[in-house]
Amino acid sequence: MTIAGANRVEMAEPSESGRFGDYGGRYVPEALVPACAEVEAAFRAAWADPDFVARYRGLLADYAGRPTPVTECHRLSAELGVRLLLKREDLTHTGSHKINNVIGQGLLTVEMGKQRVIAETGAGQHGVATATAAALLGLQCVIYMGEVDTERQELNVFRMRLLGAEVVPVRSGSRTLKDAVNEAMRAWVSEVETTHYCIGSVMGPHPFPWMVRELQRVIGDEAREQCRTLLGGSDPDLVVACVGGGSNSAGTFAGFVGTSARLVGVEAAGGSAVGRGVPGVLHGMRSLLLQDEAGQILEAESISAGLDYPGIGPEHAYLAGAGRAEYASAGDDEVLDALSLLARTEGIIPALEPAHALAWLVRATRDGTVPGGSTVLLTMSGRGDKDASQVMSLLGDRVGLG
Ligand SMILES: *Cc1c(COP(=O)(O)O)cnc(C)c1O
Repeated sequence: MTIAGANRVEMAEPSESGRFGDYGGRYVPEALVPACAEVEAAFRAAWADPDFVARYRGLLADYAGRPTPVTECHRLSAELGVRLLLKREDLTHTGSHKINNVIGQGLLTVEMGKQRVIAETGAGQHGVATATAAALLGLQCVIYMGEVDTERQELNVFRMRLLGAEVVPVRSGSRTLKDAVNEAMRAWVSEVETTHYCIGSVMGPHPFPWMVRELQRVIGDEAREQCRTLLGGSDPDLVVACVGGGSNSAGTFAGFVGTSARLVGVEAAGGSAVGRGVPGVLHGMRSLLLQDEAGQILEAESISAGLDYPGIGPEHAYLAGAGRAEYASAGDDEVLDALSLLARTEGIIPALEPAHALAWLVRATRDGTVPGGSTVLLTMSGRGDKDASQVMSLLGDRVGLG
């Protein structure tokens, strides 16, 4: 694609009905239409209000630890033959980019005069982040989590309870993330007067995909400035981020969509909604979803709990269709290799999710998809502490700890 063509696609506001091209929208029960409209109006007003934005930025600075640095990886760059810069979301309070979203939506909850937040969580990361923001802002917090996930992620269930949240195990369907989303939506219908539903990624009904992207664009806006400083006024050739629902990548891409940088989102091979999904409606939005021939939603499968969502945010489906961003995938083995490579060369143990972005980059530098000498900005969406025991059982033998 030509640079001029690349620049023509923007990450602007969605249409009035919340669409990015053919995707997005607001597919919710009638009882939730006014609630979504209320969130939209409240966010629109807050985002244009300098006081609100100052409170949001103030908490991101003093509580979450922003701006996060961009780290140049000298040793790994030499090994890959590119110039690799990492945007360090792993250095925020709670250890991932999720804090940017929950602080914004927590403040919005207060702004709407509500005292309670609910959220869905799969592995528990968004649940812990929401419980953190709720504790900070004095909000009641209820987290819906599939029963299977509560058993797999005991430690995060404990963390949420320690932070003062109530954790509700969801026993319907496959008792995992998509059932937790359904249950949270049902709960929101009956509690909408007092309660905000804090969705964890760029998904769900309008305005959530747009709002969450705006709350995460701080990643891309900061990174663009930092790259310009490091690269003598230039933008990187390539910008890479991992994609579960798509929030850290959307926030990153938002900062670079107006440049000529090539944008690549990396999904888990077992959850590749752009690669293997078809258009459909789930969780209030029209997007690309993993479905069987009868239209039943398939379970995504990945070693990384944060990437096993069977869909992708609607704006990514749009960017893929428009050709402005590319979507690739990485498999479990190469992800573990990339994780240990970064640990050994740079002293940074990444979360399994951003290790997918790195795994793709390693492969792409070796097969020539990314030319030698390219400048690359990769979003390090979170730190590896949460995955350490899982990685130990998967990798232990190789590092002599097994
Ligand atoms: C949750 C999570 C993700 C996936 O979510 P997105 O909305 O796609 O960003 C990626 N990385 C980390 C570290 C996470 O915790």
